[in-house]
Amino acid sequence: MRYSSRREAILKILRDTKSHPNAEWVYAKVREQIPNVSLGTVYRNLKELSDAGELNTLETECGSLHFDADTSPHAHFVCNGCGAISDVFGYSEDTAALEKSGYRIDGVKTVIYGLCPHCVKENKAHTRLS
Ligand SMILES: [Zn+2]
Ligand SMILES: [Zn+2]
Repeated sequence: MRYSSRREAILKILRDTKSHPNAEWVYAKVREQIPNVSLGTVYRNLKELSDAGELNTLETECGSLHFDADTSPHAHFVCNGCGAISDVFGYSEDTAALEKSGYRIDGVKTVIYGLCPHCVKENKAHTRLS
């Protein structure tokens, strides 16, 4: 894959955060470094990086796409109270049965919904962000 300085900047920004941001957030950050960058360029680079397997994507229930530079296998927890997206390591779903039935699995994206410990404490029960 051909690397442009823009793509490098986008990848670096995503590697420096654990917050699983969306494209608009990445765009705002890239603009601090490359003021003349366009949102279209950021979208295109994010797509190319995802297609190349350099980034993971995850979609929340409300349909917004979030990016993750950590491509190691992990699940995500999306908080319905504050919208925070956290990494969940060590969680696995057993896909062996599917494979036994003849399916080929190319990837698993697990998103778990609920309330994060902070929101449970705040007792913000079932306030959905959408
Ligand atoms: Zn929360
Ligand atoms: Zn993640």
